[in-house]
Amino acid sequence: SDVPRIALNSGYDIPQLGYGVFKVPPQETEKFVSEALEIGYRHIDTAAIYDNEEGVGAAIATSGIPRDEIFLTTKLWNDRQAGDEPRAALEESITKLGVDYVDLYLVHWPAPDNGQFVNAWRHLAALSEGDAIRSIGVSNFLPEHLEKIHAETGVLPAVNQIELHPAYQQRDVVAWCADHGVHIEAWGPLGQGKYDLFGVPAVAAAAAAHRHTPAQVVLRWHIQKGNIIFPKSVNPHRLRENLDIFGFALSEAEMAAIDALDPGDGSGRVSAHPSEVH
Ligand code: NAD
Repeated sequence: SDVPRIALNSGYDIPQLGYGVFKVPPQETEKFVSEALEIGYRHIDTAAIYDNEEGVGAAIATSGIPRDEIFLTTKLWNDRQAGDEPRAALEESITKLGVDYVDLYLVHWPAPDNGQFVNAWRHLAALSEGDAIRSIGVSNFLPEHLEKIHAETGVLPAVNQIELHPAYQQRDVVAWCADHGVHIEAWGPLGQGKYDLFGVPAVAAAAAAHRHTPAQVVLRWHIQKGNIIFPKSVNPHRLRENLDIFGFALSEAEMAAIDALDPGDGSGRVSAHPSEVH
Protein backbone atom coordinates (compact mmCIF):
# COMPACT_ATOMS: atom_id res chain seq x y z
CA SER A 1 0.00 0.00 0.00
CA ASP A 2 0.96 3.68 -0.06
CA VAL A 3 1.16 3.99 3.71
CA PRO A 4 4.72 4.85 4.82
CA ARG A 5 6.32 2.81 7.58
CA ILE A 6 8.15 4.39 10.49
CA ALA A 7 11.13 2.70 12.14
CA LEU A 8 10.76 2.41 15.91
CA ASN A 9 13.58 2.24 18.47
CA SER A 10 12.63 -1.41 19.04
CA GLY A 11 13.86 -2.39 15.58
CA TYR A 12 10.32 -2.95 14.27
CA ASP A 13 8.41 -0.58 12.04
CA ILE A 14 4.83 0.64 12.07
CA PRO A 15 2.46 1.78 9.29
CA GLN A 16 2.06 5.53 9.81
CA LEU A 17 -1.70 5.32 9.29
CA GLY A 18 -4.08 2.86 10.89
CA TYR A 19 -7.63 2.43 12.18
CA GLY A 20 -8.49 3.28 15.79
CA VAL A 21 -11.50 1.60 17.37
CA PHE A 22 -12.22 3.71 20.47
CA LYS A 23 -16.03 3.77 20.88
CA VAL A 24 -16.63 1.23 18.12
CA PRO A 25 -19.34 -0.91 19.78
CA PRO A 26 -18.14 -4.43 20.72
CA GLN A 27 -20.88 -6.14 18.65
CA GLU A 28 -19.94 -4.18 15.53
CA THR A 29 -16.18 -4.19 15.85
CA GLU A 30 -15.57 -7.34 13.84
CA LYS A 31 -17.62 -5.90 10.97
CA PHE A 32 -15.83 -2.54 10.86
CA VAL A 33 -12.32 -3.93 11.36
CA SER A 34 -13.01 -6.46 8.59
CA GLU A 35 -14.11 -3.59 6.39
CA ALA A 36 -10.96 -1.63 7.23
CA LEU A 37 -8.70 -4.59 6.47
CA GLU A 38 -10.56 -5.14 3.22
CA ILE A 39 -10.01 -1.50 2.22
CA GLY A 40 -6.30 -1.82 2.93
CA TYR A 41 -5.68 -0.80 6.54
CA ARG A 42 -2.89 -2.86 8.12
CA HIS A 43 -2.63 -1.20 11.53
CA ILE A 44 -5.31 -1.44 14.22
CA ASP A 45 -5.29 0.49 17.51
CA THR A 46 -7.42 -0.88 20.34
CA ALA A 47 -7.21 -1.07 24.15
CA ALA A 48 -8.41 -3.35 26.92
CA ILE A 49 -10.74 -0.59 28.15
CA TYR A 50 -12.44 -0.29 24.72
CA ASP A 51 -14.01 -3.69 25.39
CA ASN A 52 -13.72 -4.67 21.74
CA GLU A 53 -10.51 -6.71 21.55
CA GLU A 54 -12.51 -9.87 20.71
CA GLY A 55 -14.03 -8.19 17.68
CA VAL A 56 -10.64 -6.94 16.51
CA GLY A 57 -9.21 -10.44 16.89
CA ALA A 58 -12.12 -12.06 15.08
CA ALA A 59 -11.67 -9.72 12.12
CA ILE A 60 -7.94 -10.45 11.95
CA ALA A 61 -8.57 -14.20 12.15
CA THR A 62 -11.15 -14.25 9.37
CA SER A 63 -9.30 -11.80 7.11
CA GLY A 64 -6.90 -14.39 5.75
CA ILE A 65 -4.17 -11.76 5.97
CA PRO A 66 -0.92 -13.15 7.40
CA ARG A 67 -0.49 -12.06 11.02
CA ASP A 68 2.86 -10.41 10.32
CA GLU A 69 1.27 -8.09 7.75
CA ILE A 70 -0.97 -6.51 10.40
CA PHE A 71 0.33 -4.14 13.08
CA LEU A 72 -1.75 -4.53 16.23
CA THR A 73 -1.67 -2.25 19.26
CA THR A 74 -3.47 -2.68 22.57
CA LYS A 75 -3.11 -0.99 25.95
CA LEU A 76 -2.83 -1.75 29.65
CA TRP A 77 -5.66 -0.15 31.65
CA ASN A 78 -4.87 1.96 34.70
CA ASP A 79 -6.22 -0.46 37.30
CA ARG A 80 -3.71 -3.13 36.22
CA GLN A 81 -0.49 -1.15 36.72
CA ALA A 82 0.42 -2.44 40.19
CA GLY A 83 2.25 -5.59 41.27
CA ASP A 84 2.42 -8.32 38.64
CA GLU A 85 -0.92 -7.26 37.13
CA PRO A 86 0.57 -6.05 33.82
CA ARG A 87 1.56 -9.63 33.01
CA ALA A 88 -1.96 -10.94 33.70
CA ALA A 89 -3.57 -8.09 31.78
CA LEU A 90 -1.38 -8.74 28.75
CA GLU A 91 -2.32 -12.42 28.83
CA GLU A 92 -6.00 -11.51 28.93
CA SER A 93 -5.65 -9.13 26.00
CA ILE A 94 -3.70 -11.68 23.94
CA THR A 95 -6.39 -14.28 24.67
CA LYS A 96 -9.24 -11.95 23.69
CA LEU A 97 -7.39 -10.91 20.54
CA GLY A 98 -6.68 -14.54 19.71
CA VAL A 99 -3.11 -13.77 18.66
CA ASP A 100 0.34 -15.02 19.71
CA TYR A 101 1.73 -11.51 20.11
CA VAL A 102 0.84 -7.84 19.93
CA ASP A 103 3.04 -5.50 17.92
CA LEU A 104 2.78 -2.69 20.44
CA TYR A 105 1.66 -2.65 24.06
CA LEU A 106 1.11 0.71 25.76
CA VAL A 107 0.70 1.97 29.30
CA HIS A 108 -2.62 3.72 28.60
CA TRP A 109 -2.32 6.64 31.08
CA PRO A 110 0.30 7.59 33.67
CA ALA A 111 -2.42 7.96 36.34
CA PRO A 112 0.21 9.73 38.46
CA ASP A 113 -1.93 9.82 41.62
CA ASN A 114 -1.81 6.02 41.75
CA GLY A 115 1.99 6.03 41.79
CA GLN A 116 2.27 2.83 39.75
CA PHE A 117 3.31 3.83 36.24
CA VAL A 118 7.01 3.12 36.82
CA ASN A 119 6.11 -0.35 38.04
CA ALA A 120 3.94 -0.87 34.97
CA TRP A 121 6.72 0.33 32.70
CA ARG A 122 9.27 -1.97 34.35
CA HIS A 123 6.93 -4.90 33.73
CA LEU A 124 6.37 -3.98 30.09
CA ALA A 125 10.13 -3.71 29.60
CA ALA A 126 10.57 -7.21 31.04
CA LEU A 127 7.62 -8.61 29.03
CA SER A 128 9.05 -7.15 25.82
CA GLU A 129 11.98 -9.57 26.20
CA GLY A 130 9.50 -12.41 25.64
CA ASP A 131 7.47 -13.47 22.62
CA ALA A 132 4.14 -11.81 23.43
CA ILE A 133 5.11 -8.18 22.74
CA ARG A 134 7.26 -6.71 19.99
CA SER A 135 7.42 -3.03 20.97
CA ILE A 136 6.41 -1.16 24.10
CA GLY A 137 5.26 2.38 24.59
CA VAL A 138 3.25 4.79 26.66
CA SER A 139 0.23 7.01 26.19
CA ASN A 140 -0.70 10.38 27.64
CA PHE A 141 2.73 10.78 29.24
CA LEU A 142 3.98 14.32 29.91
CA PRO A 143 7.72 15.10 29.95
CA GLU A 144 7.81 14.67 33.75
CA HIS A 145 6.44 11.12 33.42
CA LEU A 146 8.77 10.30 30.54
CA GLU A 147 11.76 11.60 32.52
CA LYS A 148 10.77 9.42 35.44
CA ILE A 149 10.45 6.11 33.58
CA HIS A 150 13.64 6.84 31.69
CA ALA A 151 15.59 7.72 34.84
CA GLU A 152 14.30 4.74 36.81
CA THR A 153 14.48 2.02 34.17
CA GLY A 154 16.81 3.30 31.45
CA VAL A 155 14.25 2.12 28.89
CA LEU A 156 12.66 4.56 26.45
CA PRO A 157 9.23 3.92 24.94
CA ALA A 158 8.96 3.33 21.18
CA VAL A 159 6.03 5.75 21.05
CA ASN A 160 4.04 8.17 23.18
CA GLN A 161 0.38 8.22 22.11
CA ILE A 162 -1.09 11.63 23.00
CA GLU A 163 -4.02 13.87 22.16
CA LEU A 164 -2.76 15.94 19.24
CA HIS A 165 -4.57 17.90 16.51
CA PRO A 166 -4.15 21.36 15.01
CA ALA A 167 -5.61 23.28 17.96
CA TYR A 168 -3.67 21.23 20.53
CA GLN A 169 -0.17 20.34 19.44
CA GLN A 170 1.55 19.64 22.79
CA ARG A 171 4.82 21.10 21.54
CA ASP A 172 6.65 20.48 24.83
CA VAL A 173 5.82 16.76 24.75
CA VAL A 174 6.66 16.51 21.04
CA ALA A 175 10.05 18.21 21.63
CA TRP A 176 10.95 15.82 24.47
CA CYS A 177 10.04 12.83 22.35
CA ALA A 178 11.96 14.12 19.30
CA ASP A 179 15.05 14.63 21.48
CA HIS A 180 14.83 11.03 22.72
CA GLY A 181 13.86 9.19 19.53
CA VAL A 182 10.32 8.48 20.75
CA HIS A 183 7.71 8.65 17.97
CA ILE A 184 4.45 10.51 18.45
CA GLU A 185 1.14 8.78 17.90
CA ALA A 186 -1.56 11.44 17.65
CA TRP A 187 -4.90 10.38 19.09
CA GLY A 188 -7.99 12.42 18.30
CA PRO A 189 -6.21 13.46 15.09
CA LEU A 190 -9.41 15.16 13.90
CA GLY A 191 -10.06 16.72 17.29
CA GLN A 192 -12.68 14.01 17.85
CA GLY A 193 -15.08 16.18 15.87
CA LYS A 194 -15.42 18.40 18.95
CA TYR A 195 -14.60 21.74 17.33
CA ASP A 196 -14.99 23.21 13.88
CA LEU A 197 -11.61 22.17 12.58
CA PHE A 198 -12.85 21.60 9.05
CA GLY A 199 -14.24 25.10 8.70
CA VAL A 200 -11.13 27.06 9.69
CA PRO A 201 -9.67 28.95 6.71
CA ALA A 202 -6.23 27.28 6.83
CA VAL A 203 -7.86 23.86 6.45
CA ALA A 204 -10.72 24.81 4.14
CA ALA A 205 -8.43 26.70 1.75
CA ALA A 206 -5.97 23.80 1.45
CA ALA A 207 -8.87 21.41 0.90
CA ALA A 208 -10.18 23.53 -1.97
CA ALA A 209 -6.71 23.98 -3.47
CA HIS A 210 -5.96 20.24 -3.45
CA ARG A 211 -9.49 19.00 -4.21
CA HIS A 212 -9.49 16.85 -1.12
CA THR A 213 -11.74 17.02 1.94
CA PRO A 214 -10.84 19.04 5.05
CA ALA A 215 -10.46 15.77 6.98
CA GLN A 216 -7.91 14.57 4.42
CA VAL A 217 -6.01 17.86 4.74
CA VAL A 218 -5.78 17.51 8.51
CA LEU A 219 -4.67 13.88 8.27
CA ARG A 220 -2.14 14.84 5.60
CA TRP A 221 -0.80 17.56 7.94
CA HIS A 222 -0.20 14.86 10.58
CA ILE A 223 1.60 12.64 8.07
CA GLN A 224 3.90 15.49 7.03
CA LYS A 225 4.57 16.31 10.72
CA GLY A 226 5.73 12.70 11.15
CA ASN A 227 2.85 11.72 13.46
CA ILE A 228 1.48 8.19 13.50
CA ILE A 229 -2.34 8.36 13.25
CA PHE A 230 -5.36 6.05 13.32
CA PRO A 231 -8.51 8.10 12.74
CA LYS A 232 -11.74 6.48 13.84
CA SER A 233 -14.83 6.16 11.68
CA VAL A 234 -17.64 3.64 11.27
CA ASN A 235 -18.54 5.04 7.87
CA PRO A 236 -17.09 2.96 5.00
CA HIS A 237 -16.86 6.01 2.75
CA ARG A 238 -14.84 7.92 5.36
CA LEU A 239 -12.66 4.88 6.06
CA ARG A 240 -11.62 4.99 2.40
CA GLU A 241 -11.25 8.75 2.41
CA ASN A 242 -8.96 8.64 5.46
CA LEU A 243 -6.65 6.14 3.77
CA ASP A 244 -6.51 8.14 0.55
CA ILE A 245 -4.09 10.88 1.64
CA PHE A 246 -0.90 9.87 -0.13
CA GLY A 247 -1.63 11.36 -3.55
CA PHE A 248 -1.11 15.02 -2.62
CA ALA A 249 1.17 17.12 -0.42
CA LEU A 250 0.64 20.33 1.53
CA SER A 251 3.03 23.16 0.78
CA GLU A 252 5.28 24.67 3.45
CA ALA A 253 2.94 27.65 3.63
CA GLU A 254 -0.13 25.42 4.04
CA MET A 255 1.65 23.44 6.76
CA ALA A 256 2.66 26.65 8.54
CA ALA A 257 -0.91 27.99 8.42
CA ILE A 258 -2.18 24.84 10.17
CA ASP A 259 0.76 24.88 12.62
CA ALA A 260 -0.40 28.36 13.61
CA LEU A 261 -3.82 27.11 14.76
CA ASP A 262 -2.54 26.27 18.25
CA PRO A 263 -1.80 29.38 20.32
CA GLY A 264 0.26 27.16 22.65
CA ASP A 265 -1.75 27.89 25.80
CA GLY A 266 -3.41 24.49 26.09
CA SER A 267 -6.84 25.88 25.30
CA GLY A 268 -7.40 23.54 22.34
CA ARG A 269 -7.49 20.35 24.41
CA VAL A 270 -10.78 18.47 23.82
CA SER A 271 -10.40 15.50 26.15
CA ALA A 272 -9.02 14.65 29.59
CA HIS A 273 -5.71 15.94 30.95
CA PRO A 274 -3.32 13.19 32.11
CA SER A 275 -3.54 14.42 35.72
CA GLU A 276 -7.32 13.90 35.69
CA VAL A 277 -7.40 10.23 34.67
CA HIS A 278 -6.96 7.65 37.43
P1 NAD B 1 -10.73 11.25 15.89
O1 NAD B 1 -10.07 12.58 15.90
O2 NAD B 1 -10.20 10.16 15.04
O3 NAD B 1 -12.22 11.58 15.56
C1 NAD B 1 -13.16 10.62 15.25
C2 NAD B 1 -14.39 11.34 14.78
O4 NAD B 1 -14.09 12.04 13.56
C3 NAD B 1 -15.46 10.32 14.45
O5 NAD B 1 -16.50 10.48 15.35
C4 NAD B 1 -15.91 10.64 13.04
O6 NAD B 1 -17.26 11.02 13.05
C5 NAD B 1 -15.10 11.80 12.59
N1 NAD B 1 -14.46 11.49 11.29
C6 NAD B 1 -13.61 10.48 11.02
N2 NAD B 1 -13.24 10.50 9.73
C7 NAD B 1 -13.88 11.56 9.16
C8 NAD B 1 -13.91 12.11 7.86
N3 NAD B 1 -13.19 11.58 6.87
N4 NAD B 1 -14.68 13.20 7.65
C9 NAD B 1 -15.40 13.75 8.63
N5 NAD B 1 -15.41 13.28 9.90
C10 NAD B 1 -14.66 12.19 10.16
O7 NAD B 1 -10.83 10.78 17.43
P2 NAD B 1 -10.62 9.43 18.22
O8 NAD B 1 -11.45 8.33 17.70
O9 NAD B 1 -10.80 9.77 19.64
O10 NAD B 1 -9.09 9.09 17.97
C11 NAD B 1 -8.64 8.09 17.07
C12 NAD B 1 -8.12 6.90 17.80
O11 NAD B 1 -7.15 7.28 18.77
C13 NAD B 1 -9.17 6.17 18.65
O12 NAD B 1 -10.05 5.39 17.88
C14 NAD B 1 -8.29 5.36 19.54
O13 NAD B 1 -7.75 4.24 18.85
C15 NAD B 1 -7.19 6.36 19.86
N6 NAD B 1 -7.41 7.08 21.13
C16 NAD B 1 -6.53 6.89 22.14
C17 NAD B 1 -6.70 7.52 23.34
C18 NAD B 1 -5.69 7.33 24.43
O14 NAD B 1 -5.92 7.76 25.56
N7 NAD B 1 -4.58 6.68 24.17
C19 NAD B 1 -7.79 8.38 23.55
C20 NAD B 1 -8.70 8.56 22.51
C21 NAD B 1 -8.49 7.92 21.30
